[in-house]
Amino acid sequence: MTGHKKILAVLAHPDDESFGMGGTLALYAQQGVGIHLICATRGEAGEVDPEFLEGFDSIASRRESELLCAAEHLGIKKVHFLGYRDSGMAGSPDNQHPDAFINAPVETITGLVVAYIREFKPDIVLTFDPVGGYHHPDHIHIQQATTAAFEASGDPDQFQDLGSPFQPAKLYYHVFPRGFIRTVVKVLKLIGQDPTKFGRNQDIDLERLAGDEDYPPHVRINYRKVSHLKAQASGCHASQLSFSTQSPLLQRLTRWFNATKDTFMQAAPAVPENYRGKGLFNEG
Ligand SMILES: [Zn+2]
Repeated sequence: MTGHKKILAVLAHPDDESFGMGGTLALYAQQGVGIHLICATRGEAGEVDPEFLEGFDSIASRRESELLCAAEHLGIKKVHFLGYRDSGMAGSPDNQHPDAFINAPVETITGLVVAYIREFKPDIVLTFDPVGGYHHPDHIHIQQATTAAFEASGDPDQFQDLGSPFQPAKLYYHVFPRGFIRTVVKVLKLIGQDPTKFGRNQDIDLERLAGDEDYPPHVRINYRKVSHLKAQASGCHASQLSFSTQSPLLQRLTRWFNATKDTFMQAAPAVPENYRGKGLFNEG
């Protein structure tokens, strides 16, 4: 029942799609759903070892090619870059760059997403949760613009010069269940690692995340049967792979979790907190 349907994912950096909701995208792509991805930046602020830059003139071009490789594995039909510069983590010098994504007004980004929604006409729009998954400023920025765009795109009185009004049916936020994060924090402490400096760039504060608001898990998508596609897509992002810095136990925990399911909160239209949908289209 999902043929001819369309999903638009709106994210910030090359790799967000694979390390995040990639399993869900691959699952629906296999069912014939048309999937497009908007990516706000080309991940210019990511750390890249020199060996990965051979044959590329910049970090941006390397990471763009990694994203196109991942899109192929996941079955994403089109990737649209907004062309902003990666802002880096909060407080980093990249924040000050004039082209940094966070320095573009939300209203401007909203217009770009509205125009894309009106042209592509997706049934479903996917983006980050309000804390951007792990407080990355670019994730929060695109989440705010996407939420505003979802609300504005069907309104004939807003962005009148950007195409005919079109209202997608549902907006979902990809969420990380806090119970899982709290488990990871416990494991890290047990093995003597600092949960406030997690990940390759040590920029993920899991302790802060564990204490954040727990967004309701309205829909759980089990994508086990396409987990190999998510793994292949993740493998495209060789310049960003971080597993070598993590303990084997944590690798296994992350793999177990990642190979199983994605969790989404239905942001619009509003549903009761204890609502449980059967799939993004409530298709069962
Ligand atoms: Zn990102």
